[in-house]
Amino acid sequence: MGPPLTPVVSPRHAVVCGSSMAGLLTAGLLARHFERVTVVERDGLEDTPLARKGVPQGTQTHILLKRGMDIAAAIFPGLMEDLQGVGAQALDMAADGAWHVAGVWRKRVPSGVTMYSQTRPLFEWRVRSMLAALPNVRILDRHDVTGLLHVADGTRVTGLKVRAPGSTEETRLEADLVVDASGRGSRMPQWLEALGQPRVEETRIQIDVGYATRLYRIPPGFDAGWKSLIVSAEFPTNRRFGTVIPVEGGRWTVTLSGWLKDYPPTDEEGFLAYARSLAQPHLYEALKQAEPLGPILSYRFSHSQWRHFERLPRVPEGLLVVGDAFCSFNPIYGQGITSSALLVEALGECLRKGLDGLSRRYFERAGQLLKVPWALSTTEDFRLPELADMRPPGSSFLYWYGERFQRLTATDDEAVRTFMEVMHMLRPPTSMFSPRLFWKALTSRPVSAVLPPAPKPLPVHVSKAA
Ligand SMILES: Cc1cc2nc3c(=O)[nH]c(=O)nc-3n(C[C@H](O)[C@H](O)[C@H](O)COP(=O)(O)OP(=O)(O)OC[C@H]3O[C@@H](n4cnc5c(N)ncnc54)[C@H](O)[C@@H]3O)c2cc1C
Repeated sequence: MGPPLTPVVSPRHAVVCGSSMAGLLTAGLLARHFERVTVVERDGLEDTPLARKGVPQGTQTHILLKRGMDIAAAIFPGLMEDLQGVGAQALDMAADGAWHVAGVWRKRVPSGVTMYSQTRPLFEWRVRSMLAALPNVRILDRHDVTGLLHVADGTRVTGLKVRAPGSTEETRLEADLVVDASGRGSRMPQWLEALGQPRVEETRIQIDVGYATRLYRIPPGFDAGWKSLIVSAEFPTNRRFGTVIPVEGGRWTVTLSGWLKDYPPTDEEGFLAYARSLAQPHLYEALKQAEPLGPILSYRFSHSQWRHFERLPRVPEGLLVVGDAFCSFNPIYGQGITSSALLVEALGECLRKGLDGLSRRYFERAGQLLKVPWALSTTEDFRLPELADMRPPGSSFLYWYGERFQRLTATDDEAVRTFMEVMHMLRPPTSMFSPRLFWKALTSRPVSAVLPPAPKPLPVHVSKAA
């Protein structure tokens, strides 16, 4: 993709390291502000929806929250239509999906939150195609970023050093702005230390989450009353989670996952046995009817990590960090791409004041923004007794209320809609604490977890009182 590398010097040139979701969204935004944008990617990129080495998580189920899709579509107008054209499935997880959580099935009501569901390689491919079509963007694949260019005292970054495969020579890629979107394994902390910066503080939450994912053909005429199915874990007794999500090509992407090294097996028998051990049997029952379309692929995610670039006393000018390189969340909550998109949106706002002081403005803003998705995912993880000593003050109340709120979603339309909007990052989590919802959660009669037998039909709601 793109002609061979020649050194570039331009007054309005931005370079982005990494062409995964954070890098693509960043480059799309920067293309509106800079004369030229160059994206440097280590992998070779094909004009097809293929999983690739640099994004090993790409074979696993990815859901794209509505807020993330809205930002992506604002950067790339026509993206949603484009995705639908290649088979992405429009899905309202409240109306179309069955979701078992906290011992109840959520009520099935239209939430107004429609997401698009597709495999991760398809999404990345379509966004990359739209980016590559921009006249001022060049995607330089098969090139490795090996370090930063900077002024002598390290206070400003002026570009990237890049190397072609098989070459020992580094080429200088000069730029007015450098954005690191190279993912969890980013070497930015080491590169900054080499510039005389202190070590970037890092918060890590060891969760040892395991994923196993397989594609299935949706059984012809399948009608269990749902298009997507989620069976949530029930801490502390059940640490296993399962999802069935429809994607392009009449397929399901089915993922099983577990916390704290409760890894789902990748052999046929073990995978089914794990599916059977979820809090509800519906996923297992559905799989028994479906034709597998490939191998069971696994991924292990040891820890969530937040590198606190926002705490550096003096970030060099001309340098930003986005996406997983900054903050990488427990994937089970589906926040990664949307959080990257939020950072990109913030970058766009910070750019309105120009390049002077941009790094400081951006990192301060980003540090604030990341607090919400980080709190949403870590608070849930801290419910595990093994992580109890990491719980922040007030957690007991949150867990007590959260449980009541989730149970309220079995019977209450407003609670379902509010939950969906919070989950999709369209409203702040405090929305779940409105006086009316609070009162309802407190006074509603707890619903029973007793359900009719699997697989169909799933109840629209559970009405039996405990
Ligand atoms: C199992 C799993 C499931 C997930 N599920 C979801 C989900 O449901 N929803 C969701 O929103 N998010 C999910 N995520 C998170 C999501 O994958 C990431 O947040 C998203 O891809 C954004 O990451 P990124 O672009 O910052 O980095 P990455 O996706 O890691 O990409 C980094 C890119 O940089 C390139 N690169 C790295 N180093 C260099 C270098 N030195 N030179 C040149 N190129 C380089 C790599 O080749 C790669 O292309 C999941 C993650 C995992 C692990």
